[in-house]
Amino acid sequence: MPVFFLGHGSPMNAIEDNEYRRSWQALGAQFGVQWPIPQLIVCVSAHWLTKGWWLTAMAEPKTIHDFGGFPPALFDQHYPAPGFPQAAQEISQCLRQPGCAKPVALDFQDWGLDHGAWSVLKPMFPQADIPVIQLSLDYSRPAAEHYALGQQLRGLRDLGVLIVGSGNIVHNLRTLKMGTGSNQAYDWALEFDQTIADYLQNGNLAALQNFQALGAVAKQSHPSHEHFLPLLYAAGAVDTSEAPAFFNTSFQAASISMRSVIWDTR
Ligand code: ZN
Repeated sequence: MPVFFLGHGSPMNAIEDNEYRRSWQALGAQFGVQWPIPQLIVCVSAHWLTKGWWLTAMAEPKTIHDFGGFPPALFDQHYPAPGFPQAAQEISQCLRQPGCAKPVALDFQDWGLDHGAWSVLKPMFPQADIPVIQLSLDYSRPAAEHYALGQQLRGLRDLGVLIVGSGNIVHNLRTLKMGTGSNQAYDWALEFDQTIADYLQNGNLAALQNFQALGAVAKQSHPSHEHFLPLLYAAGAVDTSEAPAFFNTSFQAASISMRSVIWDTR
């Protein structure tokens, strides 16, 4: 299975006919052609932050509308993909929480599918017939631990599991400039986005995990860095021999990078 990191951007991308949604639809159409149909999707979304790490383990994860100020059409969206409780149990036993020996915990009722997951998965797999499990982020833990947990996901790919990280390489909601063209962004946003792309391209994974060492541009690109962390899981789940391919290399509102990454062994 390939590994994806998808810049999800505005929740409206889930329902607007734009370049991002069309790219997700096109990706989905490649399963059954270029890639086998996944048995399961494990999605690491920027929007599920927990103490310790958790996997969703309910049979019918609910669609979570974790945003405000958007039109009713967005709240009407549902993504009824099933969960996979048995797989969640098995995966939790294989994954050790970084920093302790405990298996990743199981959530049977609280979470579901947040918009970081369903806004990209619904366009990709509109039939909602592939089970989805979300893996949470322990925001209190250092970046290297997120990467380390991503490395533990690598073996799942051989079992037909599609790993999807969903966040944004630059994500600053305080500096949004609506109406800015998608090829324009703040200088600091362009710089951070390109630096991260170079790290990925060059396999500089130590620098990737140490992104906060970039100082001011990192802080401006991520006043809080939960949207960056899913990239570390995706990058951890690939072998160093797998070259990244970039797409959606553009910006929303000048301070959200939509840059997305595919790692594909073929
Ligand atoms: Zn988001």
